[in-house]
Amino acid sequence: MSSKLIAKSGIFLFQSKILDWFELSGRHYFSWRRKGLTPYEIVIAEVLLQRTKAETIEKFYPGFLITFPDWETIARADIAFLEKQLQPVGLYRQRARRLQDLAIEMVRLRGQFPTERKALEQIPFLGQYIVNAIELQIFNRPKPLIDVNMARLLERYFGPRKLADIRYDPYLQNLAAEVVNHSLIKEINWAILDFASMICKSSRPLCINCLLSDTCDFSKKTLK
Ligand code: SF4
Repeated sequence: MSSKLIAKSGIFLFQSKILDWFELSGRHYFSWRRKGLTPYEIVIAEVLLQRTKAETIEKFYPGFLITFPDWETIARADIAFLEKQLQPVGLYRQRARRLQDLAIEMVRLRGQFPTERKALEQIPFLGQYIVNAIELQIFNRPKPLIDVNMARLLERYFGPRKLADIRYDPYLQNLAAEVVNHSLIKEINWAILDFASMICKSSRPLCINCLLSDTCDFSKKTLK
């Protein structure tokens, strides 16, 4: 199904239900959702969150920011020390090298992210997800934090994508862009991510008690 064929009313209904749920049950306590974070703190959280559980990062993130309070400390760090610090959250060798490459570039840019998307995409380590996160959280643009969790919920609810790679599937990319096109641009993203993690889980989604089940494509097919 093309996202153009999904009625606006269907998108509004989804946005409204999931935001109501988020207000009461969302994970508002995450440190990286506080107001007033610097661009450095926002991007470090997103880098750490990639392929790692949010609860694991919640315990790790404040201490990491104390050890590495800015791009300079990461850029100058001995790589073995950086790897050791990242060990508790996994993928530490790969993450340390990429993070240091990013930090070196950010020192060269004097800590300022470029405002143009194309320029952001040229910075080492910034893939589609983190570029979207920067546009969303630093430049306040309605961009989706689209990862496997957001993709799973949107596809179950609205219908599946065609291409294996989330980043290149036009249906899913357009759908995600429409869904997050809301006045509460951060909250709608966080609501989708939290709902996917807590209710629309990858295995055993909680469809029977789900507030979206009446209008969800997946539940209409499986709960007959
Ligand atoms: S009904 Fe099931 S599949 Fe649909 S959104 Fe809810 S938990 Fe996910």
